Amino acid sequence: MEFLTDMAAKRAELTPDHVAFIDHESGLRYTFCEVNSRATRLGNLLLKHGLSKGDRVAVLCLNHPDFFILLFAAQKTGIVLVPLNWRQPVAELRPVLAASRAKFLFHDLTCADTASKLAEDGDIPFLMLGSADGAPSALDQVLSSVSPAAIGCGRVKASTPWYLLFTSGTTGLPKAVIQTAGMAYANMINYAQATGLSVGESGVNFLPLFHTAGINLPTLPIFLNGGSSTILRKFDPDTVLGLIDAGAVTSFFGVPAIYQALALSAAVGRTDFSSVRSLGCGGAPVPKHLLTDFQKRGVTICNGMGMTETGPTVFLMDRDHAAEKIGSVGKPQILTDVRLVDGEGGVLEGPGEGEIQFRGPNITPGYMDNPDATAGAFTVDGWLSSGDVGRRDEDGYYFIVDRIKDMYISGGENVYPAEVEKALVSHPDILEAVVVGLPDATWGEVGAAFVIARPDRKIDTSSLPGWCREYLAPYKIPKTFSVVDDLPRTAAGKVRKNVLKDQLSTHKASEDA
Ligand code: ATP
Repeated sequence: MEFLTDMAAKRAELTPDHVAFIDHESGLRYTFCEVNSRATRLGNLLLKHGLSKGDRVAVLCLNHPDFFILLFAAQKTGIVLVPLNWRQPVAELRPVLAASRAKFLFHDLTCADTASKLAEDGDIPFLMLGSADGAPSALDQVLSSVSPAAIGCGRVKASTPWYLLFTSGTTGLPKAVIQTAGMAYANMINYAQATGLSVGESGVNFLPLFHTAGINLPTLPIFLNGGSSTILRKFDPDTVLGLIDAGAVTSFFGVPAIYQALALSAAVGRTDFSSVRSLGCGGAPVPKHLLTDFQKRGVTICNGMGMTETGPTVFLMDRDHAAEKIGSVGKPQILTDVRLVDGEGGVLEGPGEGEIQFRGPNITPGYMDNPDATAGAFTVDGWLSSGDVGRRDEDGYYFIVDRIKDMYISGGENVYPAEVEKALVSHPDILEAVVVGLPDATWGEVGAAFVIARPDRKIDTSSLPGWCREYLAPYKIPKTFSVVDDLPRTAAGKVRKNVLKDQLSTHKASEDA
């Protein structure tokens, strides 16, 4: 399919009066018709400002229906949206904004200070969207005088970059994963096929919108299927359980840390989950006890796996086998091919263990303005290398068993040790720093840092969290800092992180015993 429809315009044609988004904080409801006309005005506003196809517009906000409206405005105009991570401090956002080459910045009230600093630095115009209480926002006032005339011909090229999601990657340098309309439609088909999503289902949106899961799991599939999503500024376990109990959620997705927080809420025991037809989990390894605890309440959680580069759904467990194949991420989805490759590059047949590689219409075409990173991510025959090791059992079910790439996941957020190490070695007393991820009951994994002092310097570890806070989002700051004289290394001088991890795990196990 070379061309697809303008999503908001198509939905406005099919179900104009149905509710697409409910803003939980203000209670405001947006029908598909309203979403489309607001997106059209917003698109015309950007065109009026001189932006055109291929230009970038950044957005820094907590979850709000206006984020999606901006996304649809981008689709209509061919402008590329760049969602920014509001957990990152200005020092981290600056290079991301610069790399994005954004010409306009939208933000909300919560992010106003950060946005104005960024916009001043980059000398780009900025405008506030959303409003806390449903009162007209600055954007509403501006839009009232903008043309409502339709933009474009209602067709969208499937391969055109639509929005960019930044990841840090193992080099510690920001790279922008291209997301296209084709990927979103493919994800919708994968998700709907895996979960049985039907027309008019409802969801709740709370995962951050600078992540593929916040946008796509399952808000965009629900939108495309004519259903409604209640949008929360951020995750709150009791609010989410209240919506589930009230029957307002039929399709649900969370990362393991979200299920962990739901399980710990006092309200979980009295929550009626019977309206939720599908509960997906992914983004990080899910502890088996979490799955079995919910199963004991009669709630089946389906583990799945995806990446920002895969749009994201590629694996999602089917409900019927979730208990029998506990811990498995299921089978590859309808539009996506998966293969396992051994250390020599040979493709495995039948049961076995190897690197997971993907191919299909939900896979990114690559990294924006970064041909080297794109070339590095794909095999010569065009498959995306995941950097994860998977096992396929005799029934064709997959299990994620290890990670080849240097990354760990804390509370659903990826942390690339390279960027934490970079922040640490910029400290005047630190010569070398190494960070590894360790298992943690609350966050899944947390960081542990090892630092070597510069000659004639002494490291005060109590100052290091504060130092990191200047440069890194809170979830990236290591939980422990150890000063060491040397590190275990390979013959080539590379630090053997596995040895450090094993040492720390053994030490922790003996402390726990
Ligand atoms: P998001 O940014 O929305 O959280 P995501 O987590 O789907 O997206 P990435 O941030 O790109 O995607 O992280 C993908 C990596 O997360 C995978 O390569 C894998 O290492 C890990 N991962 C995802 N799901 C699972 C899972 N169910 N079990 C183990 N690891 C997983």
